[in-house]
Amino acid sequence: MRDVIFVTADSVRYDFVDAMEFVSTFSQHQGVTGAHYTRPSLASILTASYQGAIESRAMSPTVAEAFSRTGYTTIGLSSSPHTDPRFGFDAGFDVYENYCEAGNRGNPLRQFASQFDLIRKVYHRFRPPHAKLSNRLPDDELIDNAISAFNDESGPRFMWLHMMGTHRPYGLGDDAVPKEIDRKALFAPEKLSEADKKTITQKYRQTLSRADAEIERLVDSVDSSDPLVVFSSDHGDEFGEDGHYFHQPQRRRVVDALTTVPVATNDLSLCDPLSVLDIAPSLLGEVGGEIPAEWHGKDVRETPRDQTLTIAPWHGTTTVAWQDFETKIVSRDADVSMVRNGETVDVERDDVDEDLKQQMRDLGYVE
Ligand SMILES: [Zn+2]
Repeated sequence: MRDVIFVTADSVRYDFVDAMEFVSTFSQHQGVTGAHYTRPSLASILTASYQGAIESRAMSPTVAEAFSRTGYTTIGLSSSPHTDPRFGFDAGFDVYENYCEAGNRGNPLRQFASQFDLIRKVYHRFRPPHAKLSNRLPDDELIDNAISAFNDESGPRFMWLHMMGTHRPYGLGDDAVPKEIDRKALFAPEKLSEADKKTITQKYRQTLSRADAEIERLVDSVDSSDPLVVFSSDHGDEFGEDGHYFHQPQRRRVVDALTTVPVATNDLSLCDPLSVLDIAPSLLGEVGGEIPAEWHGKDVRETPRDQTLTIAPWHGTTTVAWQDFETKIVSRDADVSMVRNGETVDVERDDVDEDLKQQMRDLGYVE
């Protein structure tokens, strides 16, 4: 069985994939996401199920479990706090790391201090949330770790990676979008000048190009003669099309800029159009695995998908978009649940502890 490498990079818009030179050499497909921001979207991708989006967590049978049952050694590396094991993302992975709270988890003083708004505010004056983002694991280190983790195991190997270098604010250090422009785009986009807007998209393209170089290094460096490689993303970002910037989960927006992402493959023939939920079943079909009956994603190597859903939950309220690729129907801010085999599944409630919430605020997930 062939090694499988599935890379997702955060916030990659379909119409910007040309900034990724290496990925652009793959065959290109247009994928519709299962949700509108990182956690529910990655949950829907890694469970090939809309239930993942509805519950914003990964539940059995996960993609890693299905590859494991097929005889694969499974490796999952992600540098996003959204993919913490407490949301089930580690299920089925023999090796799993999400680098959450690097240097912070287990720091009792910080955990104690984080309970108090005033202390937290003072703390942030000296180490502002924007600067804290530089603590996220840089993509080059993630790729170093991925190469080691992959080469340490014997085949066949299924590896999933989620890269965060493409998440806003775009770039790190001197290379980053200036903090005031990033904040303006998030909180007062009407005040952005044309030059500011250009800076944002230029820096965005640069982050895509850097992520692309890392993906190329990964593929060149793994000890595998003929890996099957797929690249995709969890959602796009907005650049002021309807007056909004980036992806802001609390808005529950399901516009194409957010829900259309690249699906690029080096050696896997897929039918267009497709949902990102179809990536795992198609990969599993290609290597001869059995596709779990519970999955909503389809093997689209030969049969195209004729409709898809995007489910955008935030704190118990959900916007849903259905489309058949000609018509799109949106139900905004609804009370959504899923009933299957007599069992009802509701949209996630606010079940995140304070420490993790703070990390999400640092990433711009404003409540
Ligand atoms: Zn994301």
